[in-house]
Amino acid sequence: MRRQSKKPNICPRCGYEVEKPEKTWHIMSPIPDSRGRVTITIMGVYICPKCGYKWRTTISKIKAGEDIEFEGRESEKTEEKPREGKIIEIDLSELDEV
Ligand SMILES: [Zn+2]
Repeated sequence: MRRQSKKPNICPRCGYEVEKPEKTWHIMSPIPDSRGRVTITIMGVYICPKCGYKWRTTISKIKAGEDIEFEGRESEKTEEKPREGKIIEIDLSELDEV
């Protein structure tokens, strides 16, 4: 049997609760659902400081729809300062992508 109700930062091997992920990133699903929302999945890699076990897990999922839009997908050219508006901010404790 497996228990999926645990937090993602619990070491599956020894049960230690890792405070911060080693690395995080997000994946945006390319296909919106029926309401035109896309799902952004926040992934993370944890390394257990106790036993050294390393695992990858889903930290959280965000649904982005009508009220959140992404700017600048087709306009890499930034002559003007980007419009202020709806920006999604994924603020995990640390996003130190390589
Ligand atoms: Zn561990």
